[in-house]
This record gives sequence, C-alpha cells and structure tokens, in this order.
Amino acid sequence: MSGSLYIVSAPSGAGKTSLVSKLIMQDSRIVVSVSSTTRGIRPGEENGVNYHFLNVEEFDEKIVQGDFLEHAKVFDNYYGTSKSAVEAQLKARKDVILEIDWQGAQQVRKLMPEAISIFILPPSKEELHKRLTNRGTDSEEIIERRMQDAVSEMSHYDEFDYIVVNNNFDIALNKLQSIFTANRLLKDKQAAVHKNMIEALLES
Ligand code: GDP
Ligand code: ADP
Ligand code: 5GP
Repeated sequence: MSGSLYIVSAPSGAGKTSLVSKLIMQDSRIVVSVSSTTRGIRPGEENGVNYHFLNVEEFDEKIVQGDFLEHAKVFDNYYGTSKSAVEAQLKARKDVILEIDWQGAQQVRKLMPEAISIFILPPSKEELHKRLTNRGTDSEEIIERRMQDAVSEMSHYDEFDYIVVNNNFDIALNKLQSIFTANRLLKDKQAAVHKNMIEALLES
C-alpha cells in the first residue's frame, strides 16, 4: 500500500512552512515535496532544500518535458511540483505533503481525487501582516502584494477537506497531526497494516 498525498495551502505568512517543517521533524513517515520556482532565493534558503530555484527558461523546459504534476503562476513567479519525485515517495510508502497554492490544489485534485487537502487560515488580516513583517524575508512592497493576494487565496478555503486556524502554533500543529493520525486509522489502511493480526483474531 502506497503513502497518501496531502495538499496544504494557505495565504503567504499564515504559517504553513513552519507548521509543515515541525510536523515532518516529528514524524519520519511524512515528507514534503520540494517545489521548483522562478522566484529569487531568500536569505537562509538553500537550493534543493527549500525549493529548486530555476530561471524562466529552465522552468518552461520542464513544462514542455511534462515534468510537473501541477504548476501555477503565483505573485508573478512560477511554482511547480515534480511528478517523478512525488510518485517515488508515495511508492516508498511516505505520506507526501504538497505546499501549493489553490490553483495547484485544483489541478492535483483532478488528477488524484484521493488527495487529502488542508487549508491553513491566520486568525486575522492584522496578524497575517504582522507575521509577514516579522518574518523579515520580504520588502514592504512584496508584503503588500501578498496581503492583496491573501484574500483571493483564502476565498478558496471551502474547496478543502480540512481547515486549521493557526492562532496558537502548538495547538495548530496538534490539529494538523490529528488529521494525519485519523487518515492512517481509516479502515482500509488499518486492514492492510494489520492484515495478519486481524486474520489471527478472526480465526475460529
Ligand atoms: P511563502 O508561502 O510566503 O513562504 O512564499 P513562497 O514564495 O515560498 O510561496 C508562495 C506561494 O506559492 C504559496 O502560496 C505556495 O503555496 C505556492 N507554491 C509553492 N510551491 C508551489 C508549487 O509547487 N505549486 C504551486 N501551484 N504553488 C506553489
Ligand atoms: P508561510 O509558509 O505560510 O508563508 P511561515 O511558516 O513562513 O508562513 O510563517 C510566517 C511567519 O509567521 C514566520 O516568521 C513564522 O515564524 C511565524 N508564525 C507561524 N506560525 C505562527 C504562530 N502561530 N504565531 C506566531 N507566529 C507564527
Ligand atoms: P522552526 O520550526 O524552524 O523552529 O520554527 C520557525 C518559526 O516558527 C519560528 O521562528 C517561530 O516564529 C515559529 N514557531 C515555531 N515554534 C513555535 C511555537 O511553539 N509557537 C509560536 N508562536 N511560534 C512558533
């Protein structure tokens, strides 16, 4: 039985990267897909770790080659998910998280309707602005652009299976973990994991 695919979306600054990185630190069965992007590298980011940083020509070449499971333009930059990397990780029985925008989420749902999708909301617009400012990675101009786009991103919240409000970080992390736990407890998955045990229990 392969791993499950999870989509995590949120407006920029809601905390999805912080939450997802804590989640994967605590659970080795979960991995996060490293996207490709044409946006500039931020201080502290590493090529191949946070993203595969590409120029527009390299990105276009990958589209032509059919390398992307999905791709979308977000805040004037291109972002895309590697098809082969995701498939290999699912096959290796990892639960794979795609940190992608709502457009990518729609594309993935069409291709893989079994994907479980989670939307992370900030508690308020003021708090979202504060987090983008405190993160210290973007200019005021970029922050204003992201605040404008946040409303259109958030307007898609009801296309997702689960909503997690990230007010208190630890509570939000716990809610996120609960979604993974509940999904692993679904009957079909448990029947596969505990096949021998269940057979033994049912022997008369
Ligand atoms: P951050 O969300 O503030 O850390 O900013 P980023 O520049 O890292 O990401 C900007 C947006 O691009 C976010 O809404 C992400 O969800 C989205 N994004 C990142 N990777 C992908 C991807 O592979 N595909 C799609 N469709 N969106 C992506
Ligand atoms: P995203 O990946 O959604 O853009 P980040 O994970 O980069 O968001 O988080 C944005 C900023 O907000 C970061 O500086 C992060 O440390 C901070 N942050 C995340 N969650 C919380 C929270 N619950 N309370 C306060 N600050 C938070
Ligand atoms: P990391 O997972 O890299 O330690 O966390 C990245 C950022 O997420 C931190 O700088 C911090 O702002 C936020 N963060 C991590 N843990 C907590 C927490 O327990 N509470 C809050 N409020 N924020 C946290």
